Amino acid sequence: MQGANWKEHEVLQRWSSVKLAQFPQCKNSEVTKIHIYDFDQTLFVSPLPNPVLYPPSTINHLRYPNSLANGGWFMNSDILEYSVLCRKGKDSGKWNLTVAELVSMSIADENTLCILLTGRSEAQFTRVIEEAMKQFQEDFELSRGFDAVCLKKEQMTTASYKTSLIVSLLDFYSNVNQISIYDDRERHCKMFREFLKNYAETVRPALIPSVVIVPAIFYYLPSDVEIELVHNMVADSNKIVQSINERKKHQKHQKKKSFNKSGVSNGNFNIFHLHNSAMHSSYALDVETTIRLQEKAIHFLKSFEDLDADAIPESLDWFLYPYIPISLHESVAKVSVNDIAELLHEDGNVRDANSLASNIQKGHQYHQRSWQIKDFVYVAHGNVIGFRVEPADTVSEVPASSYYTYLLLAGPKSISFYTSQEMHNLRNAFHHYFVIDSKDQEVFTTYLGVYHNFRLKSAR
Ligand SMILES: [Mg+2]
Repeated sequence: MQGANWKEHEVLQRWSSVKLAQFPQCKNSEVTKIHIYDFDQTLFVSPLPNPVLYPPSTINHLRYPNSLANGGWFMNSDILEYSVLCRKGKDSGKWNLTVAELVSMSIADENTLCILLTGRSEAQFTRVIEEAMKQFQEDFELSRGFDAVCLKKEQMTTASYKTSLIVSLLDFYSNVNQISIYDDRERHCKMFREFLKNYAETVRPALIPSVVIVPAIFYYLPSDVEIELVHNMVADSNKIVQSINERKKHQKHQKKKSFNKSGVSNGNFNIFHLHNSAMHSSYALDVETTIRLQEKAIHFLKSFEDLDADAIPESLDWFLYPYIPISLHESVAKVSVNDIAELLHEDGNVRDANSLASNIQKGHQYHQRSWQIKDFVYVAHGNVIGFRVEPADTVSEVPASSYYTYLLLAGPKSISFYTSQEMHNLRNAFHHYFVIDSKDQEVFTTYLGVYHNFRLKSAR
């Protein structure tokens, strides 16, 4: 360490959860900028519960810290650990490359403090985040890492923890006149903005704050891995609940006691079971594609002069998980391995179609398939909106059945699928239908799969 005494940066030692290998190269008084980066969904592309695996209510249970006794998805270190260890290298998709580049520049600037700040709890996640930071340094060939890696130390909300750290840094480094915070959560960003504006007004008029919302990138674990990890997580939660219940039995005479592991709830937790039933076999869309095609559909709506294109999108019930059905006759069809293999043969890129088909049928694997939007459809009386689509990567001719294949993006709540006959009938009723210009015939990716429906049921 040159030029600086450790006491000049004592605050970093106090806050950092990971032992610091080196202090900033400049003196306290020479620190003029602080750059703070959030971890999940900001620098690191962390996994989220895959929406094609569960109904929305189960996703809520998994995500919210008060449903499972062990805090659920974001309190589970196995899930984070798997996603840190299974993806290797700079281009493995685990880093948000835009943010990573900014971090590299912040680290390289001697007068900038570069801080990683996460609401993950120190007790549970220090080891895995330390490993992630080691990988980050290696992946981007950096000679130094962050000046501090800070995880939440106490049982408090992430927002108040982050704010208290920021105040502590600003107070300690009195020559800082620029602070930038990068985070994916809008609510937090809004809070940081207000708080920093206030700090500047009342304490340091020269301070220029900037708060940047980082658009989240979605990542899902391989589905068989995810289900196994979720199974374990639910089993672990049930064990905790059972031991709480045992304890309660023994404490009959005392007033209601509550057990509080996550620190957020005073916990009456349920025993849950994860039930599995195949939901549909289809070409499913991911969230990003869904949003892109929704925007495209709204764009096309606007070309109809007789429609109120501003009001319609509001009135539509957009499907959360739109899909192209495999069978145009029955959406819940349990497809055979042979049927899937036949579909795979349409795509010239598949080598071992039979074994892939068998894995897909078990719900263990997906196969990417590209489609192209051909015609635009809007049926006013049913509030149905979508596209007629055709496979984009078919080796031979487009199969005749594909001419009647539709991707519906919105429609009556109870329906996300029309049989080919229904589609045919609807077609006669199309008031707003047109063939899309070839330059607008966007290609999009879907995932051919048998989608299971893992539902958390309370055993209460
Ligand atoms: Mg985040």
